[in-house]
Amino acid sequence: MDDCVFCNIINKIIQSQILFESPDLIVINDIMPKAPVHLLVIPKKHIPGIAHLEAADEVIVGEIVFKAKEMAQKHGIGESGYKLVFNVGPDGGQTVPHLHLHLLGGKKLGE
Ligand code: 5GP
Ligand code: ZN
Repeated sequence: MDDCVFCNIINKIIQSQILFESPDLIVINDIMPKAPVHLLVIPKKHIPGIAHLEAADEVIVGEIVFKAKEMAQKHGIGESGYKLVFNVGPDGGQTVPHLHLHLLGGKKLGE
């Protein structure tokens, strides 16, 4: 996926500060943060989005959510609370067609 921004970050073609990396996923800061804490948890596998998940992807989705919970605790928002958001498709506001989970917190967030 040569033209995928997240694949290029995963493959270190685009420089980005990687906060956590495992064989299956990375965590980075969002380049345009919408909250004091705004991280993206991204699988290394190029899955275009939630709508494209296959049965075999169940495990990685669980890993992504669990890592988001860990990163929230690490960033001191485990108790104050946070939002986890998957945007899906055009009406869902998805702009990057590589699956990612937004972790947003550090302030009181709206509905
Ligand atoms: P989406 O709208 O697809 O759910 O979210 C994509 C997110 O990726 C946006 O919040 C956007 O700011 C972020 N983003 C887009 N390009 C880059 C990039 O090159 N680096 C980082 N760190 N974030 C990016
Ligand atoms: Zn990709």
